[in-house]
Amino acid sequence: MDWQASQAPERQPRLVAQLTRMIQSDRLSHAVLLTGEQGSGKEAVAHFLIQMTLCENPQNVPCETCRACRLLKSGNHLNVHSVEADGQFIKREQIDQLIHELSKTARESGRKFYIVHEAHRMNASSANALLKFLEEPTSDVTAILLTNQPHALLPTIRSRCQQMTLQPISSEQLKQQLMEQEVTESMASTISKMANSVEEGLALTEEEEFGLARRGVLKLMEALERGTAHALVQAHEHVIPLLKDKEKAERILDLLLFAYRDIVACKANPGSDCTFPDKKALWEQIAMRSTFEQLTYQLEHIMKARRRLHQNANRTLLMEQLVIELREVNAGV
Ligand SMILES: [Zn+2]
Repeated sequence: MDWQASQAPERQPRLVAQLTRMIQSDRLSHAVLLTGEQGSGKEAVAHFLIQMTLCENPQNVPCETCRACRLLKSGNHLNVHSVEADGQFIKREQIDQLIHELSKTARESGRKFYIVHEAHRMNASSANALLKFLEEPTSDVTAILLTNQPHALLPTIRSRCQQMTLQPISSEQLKQQLMEQEVTESMASTISKMANSVEEGLALTEEEEFGLARRGVLKLMEALERGTAHALVQAHEHVIPLLKDKEKAERILDLLLFAYRDIVACKANPGSDCTFPDKKALWEQIAMRSTFEQLTYQLEHIMKARRRLHQNANRTLLMEQLVIELREVNAGV
């Protein structure tokens, strides 16, 4: 894995500032648990913590040029060890091996670190081995445990650690990271509003029905411009067949809600960020001829449909009614 320390201040500014103060005043515990969603930058923060501690000339950030910084960046610093799951679990032998490595005489000066990636993947045996090691801390070793499922860890392990929580990834960061994974900008913009992590976002891109739902909602938005009959035909052709269960129907209503939010945002600030950047021209057109009041009514109708969905209303009727209501608001223009 690449050394990511330099990304940490940008991705987790508050936590990094807090960690820096703790390192500078020597208040960092011998075991740190970093919890946060996938994509929130746990590795980056762990790497920053290590580099900030081992750097020979740290200011508020590591110097990047001293011997320790260079060794860390090239992945060759002998004081840094890490463990990650071998298959589904982190196995007992892996923890035993780690403890063995850490007990050897240091060949580099300074503190030693070990990172346990996805710490929730320790099984009972490996967790107990690590716990035993945590309970007898040697003064020159710091443990950094990373997880997005802190409650899956043994409570006794959690209580031995100084726990710090990373902020979830922002939708703008999520969009950027999805685009780095070859997701198109228009799709990444939409998904970044609906998913909480890169993993969840990538799963949506692979789901055929999500692509269909997005396309169906956009076709419906276009048809709504042409009249009620058009809109009902489009709804029956492209949207209603996708309302297979409550969850899928909710997703469609969310996409519709985002479309109207885009229009409101366009109206308030023409340069604003869109959930559907590929429809910006249409949004601008609708924003131009709609009042904020009309758009508010439309948003309210969608919210009402969402509530009725949870009261188990018939999904086909619900969508037909919503289409009519969205049009009625327009008819008043
Ligand atoms: Zn340095």
